[in-house]
Amino acid sequence: MKPVPPGSTIGIVGGGQLGRMLAMAAARLGYKCHVYAPDEAPPAAEVSAHFTRGAWDDEAALARFGRSIDVATYEFENIAAAPLAALAAEAPLYPPRRSLEIAQDRLEEKGFIQGLGGRPPAFQPVDDLAGLEAALAAIGAPAVLKTRRFGYDGKGQARIADPSGAAEAWAAVRAAPSILEAFVDFEAEFSILLCRGADGRTVIWPVPENRHRQAMLDRSILPAGEAVRRVQAEAEALARRAADALEHVGILALEFFATAEGPLFNEMAPRVHNSGHWTIEGAVTSQFENHVRAICGLPLGDTGLAGSRVEMTNLIGSEAETWPEILADPAAHLHLYGKGETREGRKMGHVTRVWR
Ligand code: AMP
Repeated sequence: MKPVPPGSTIGIVGGGQLGRMLAMAAARLGYKCHVYAPDEAPPAAEVSAHFTRGAWDDEAALARFGRSIDVATYEFENIAAAPLAALAAEAPLYPPRRSLEIAQDRLEEKGFIQGLGGRPPAFQPVDDLAGLEAALAAIGAPAVLKTRRFGYDGKGQARIADPSGAAEAWAAVRAAPSILEAFVDFEAEFSILLCRGADGRTVIWPVPENRHRQAMLDRSILPAGEAVRRVQAEAEALARRAADALEHVGILALEFFATAEGPLFNEMAPRVHNSGHWTIEGAVTSQFENHVRAICGLPLGDTGLAGSRVEMTNLIGSEAETWPEILADPAAHLHLYGKGETREGRKMGHVTRVWR
């Protein structure tokens, strides 16, 4: 791959906080960004040179967008294959489409990981209520029903405490094609953050232990505890195999449950990830900068920890209003995403603390 030099324009599909932080990292390296998103004033557009407002499925608009940029990436996963193909026909697109197609479908993703020797929790595909009842009989309760596509931050999920809850759960996922997954009694959760360069060279950051609240990431903590450290090598090896099999370029994040039997694969994302936000101040090179370097064909930076301990906390909904108290701590790095409207359950910002 011929390097895309600083001064070029990076196209970002998606306009949320991930795109915003990508654009800020790109700007530091001398790139311009052009954001494509359907929203009126998305957070990423505020810090980018250009913005095109367009629908996710507008192939003509995506093709035009592709002609205005030097390289394309995405920070949003739920875009269909055909519009993405229209974009990829006009500009090199990284990570590759196959990474996105596999990661956006929970059934495909689990099959892919099993093919590489990884282990997800016990699961079965579910296409109707009778299928859900059969899957519950096979897997047992408690279990979690998750839509195959378009789920995030616990959306498109329903927990099932006992078999009598099948109909309610099926209604909760709006009868969408789903998978039923055994409920895992995990010791901890963690993620592997990996960046693969165009030359195949791969770097992995120190592993964060992730704590969730209502199925949404609350905190990432480094170094991770003993339960994670015991199983992380196996997860790292799997992540490398996944990235190589996909010929991935850019960040790939894999989420795991740490259990006494080893790491169980939960899901993966072919993009910068919330559990990597700590890398902005907590690592020598952030996930955002290395993603930019990878998609532009540049060498990757050091992923080492920048302190002895790092903690990132998400600011959800009205928690962002505590910014005066956060700033009163001189060691706190505050990030606010510039989202106009505070909504319950909406990621509004995050705060990172690094202990030297
Ligand atoms: P997901 O969107 O699949 O990453 O789920 C969000 C969060 O819900 C996870 O990080 C876990 O905290 C919880 N969760 C999801 N699936 C399971 C499961 N099978 N067993 C236990 N907890 C789960």
